[in-house]
Amino acid sequence: SIEHTHHTDIAFYNHDMHNAVRKKNSIESQMYPALQNKEFKLFLQPKFGMKNEGLVGAEALVRWQNPDGSYRYPNEFIPLFEENGFCLKLDLYMVERACEQIKAWKDAGLTPVPISVNQSKMLFSDLHYPDNLMQILNRYDVSPSLITLEILEGVATNNLELLNHQIEALHALGFRISMDDFGNGYSSLNMLYQLNIDELKLDRGFLRQVSKEDEERRYIILEQIVSFARKLGIATVAEGIETQEDEELIQALKCNFGQGYFYDKPMSAKEFSQRYMKKDEK
Ligand code: C2E
Ligand code: MG
Ligand code: MG
Ligand code: MG
Repeated sequence: SIEHTHHTDIAFYNHDMHNAVRKKNSIESQMYPALQNKEFKLFLQPKFGMKNEGLVGAEALVRWQNPDGSYRYPNEFIPLFEENGFCLKLDLYMVERACEQIKAWKDAGLTPVPISVNQSKMLFSDLHYPDNLMQILNRYDVSPSLITLEILEGVATNNLELLNHQIEALHALGFRISMDDFGNGYSSLNMLYQLNIDELKLDRGFLRQVSKEDEERRYIILEQIVSFARKLGIATVAEGIETQEDEELIQALKCNFGQGYFYDKPMSAKEFSQRYMKKDEK
């Protein structure tokens, strides 16, 4: 009966809620000790030029390493950290790990590649954030031109004036700003119109295969996005390139850069260095 189903739903709901709350509490009690114990690890995914330029940079992606060596992935904890404010601390920590890596490359006689670090939308409400970033960069003697800050397009729903103020402050210091997951939200064009950004990352969803009928439609839309980005002096990156077809599409669209499993997965900074950072031939 309806009555019965209703009760069952409530029982499930309570059970799930109970588990969710328990999980949340458990993560929240672990996050500060984890930061202290350096359990948040810098993983890097290579980014390539689409005209055979080879490696042009890397994206920093956090992995939470449990004491038993297993990893927790961002989707399990980033949304919670966004909610409870811990994300600002974690993001600064990840910027520091990126700077540490850049310094290590320089110390080893290697030419560093720029690293893109994902940032919480909360950075836009903290007026000290640009200075906090600079303090870290100065400590490792890293130029802001080597750090790109990736922000999500959803940030534009916040105070636009404050947003532009922060972007200008970060630009004045020399950071590059990238708009991540572009096309995933519903205010994409509005954002592009109002914000002064340097790079646009097309959401992986754009590349997902849809029915053949939609192919042409999708192509036309993507082509125009890449074209107006180019005219605005904004670099384009395609994320989630998984196949040869994806790559060919991205090349045909004249996208500047690409990342994805077709090239390589995110890996530990150590593995990245071994695989991609070669001594300059002299
Ligand atoms: P994102 O910044 O859009 O990063 C791309 C995600 O797609 C990463 O997932 C990456 O591992 C995955 N990916 C890369 N290539 C492919 C591919 O070819 N196919 C598919 N299916 N996936 C691919 P990941 O590492 O799980 O990160 C998820 C999201 O968590 C990130 O999305 C980013 O928004 C957030 N995130 C990760 N690290 C940090 C961080 O340090 N700080 C903040 N605030 N957010 C972070
Ligand atoms: Mg990103
Ligand atoms: Mg993305
Ligand atoms: Mg994403």
